[in-house]
Amino acid sequence: MPFGEKNIKLSSGDTIVVSNTIRNLLPTRIIQAYKEYCKECDEEFKPLSDTCLFEILHCCTASNRKSLQGLDYFACDGSNAFDMLTHLCDELTTHDVTTSKIIELKKGLHESRNCLKNNYKLHVEFNSEVADHCIKYGLSDPRDLFWKEDCNHSHSMECDQCLLLKNTLIELRATIDSCSMTKEMKLRYLHRFDQNAQLIWDWKAHLMRCFQQDRARIDILQNLQNDSEFVLLDWALKWLPMKYRETQRDFFSNLFN
Ligand SMILES: [Zn+2]
Ligand SMILES: [Zn+2]
Ligand SMILES: [Zn+2]
Repeated sequence: MPFGEKNIKLSSGDTIVVSNTIRNLLPTRIIQAYKEYCKECDEEFKPLSDTCLFEILHCCTASNRKSLQGLDYFACDGSNAFDMLTHLCDELTTHDVTTSKIIELKKGLHESRNCLKNNYKLHVEFNSEVADHCIKYGLSDPRDLFWKEDCNHSHSMECDQCLLLKNTLIELRATIDSCSMTKEMKLRYLHRFDQNAQLIWDWKAHLMRCFQQDRARIDILQNLQNDSEFVLLDWALKWLPMKYRETQRDFFSNLFN
């Protein structure tokens, strides 16, 4: 298990092994998602009451991890980028942008962040008529025949949430561009905007890649023969960050020696 496991002793004396997972949602949202999941699986199933579910989450406490190694850098950077852009919106109030405009932009950012955090990975599909959700389309490399597959459907549908993100970012850039400020200042603002917008798009692309990677893993496990073994080495999550850390240390030790 990637994040270790825990032994839980039952009152009957039995132990069960539970794998640790990363919890990145608020308790209310976890419960909301759990109930939706129950409903999707079986309409008749009655989940425990909210009070019980909260109590369970309270007892299975989450520990905070200070080190982000093995955690998702894309999600972390992307979420930060939303904070930066929200901050940037606030700064624009001093440059003749109306309060209603700022409120609209900040609301768009807030909702879009929630969507990337919670819903987007539930919306992606291998074949989708929404271009933003279509894995085949999104993960094809147009410059490489071997890494490309054509969709046999059109991409004529739009998703409100994906559209909101797109439009909010376009609108925010246009707002900066039409602000009354010096040319140098505007360039600095636009540069800040572009950098953070890129981190957000990177996060979204990463979510799609994760989903596809997971499909491959499940596929292998389901077709595993009795005489075969499956070893998962998480190169991107575990080894690359370590390498970067070490190169950074090498860099600093060279600097001081
Ligand atoms: Zn969505
Ligand atoms: Zn498609
Ligand atoms: Zn969408």
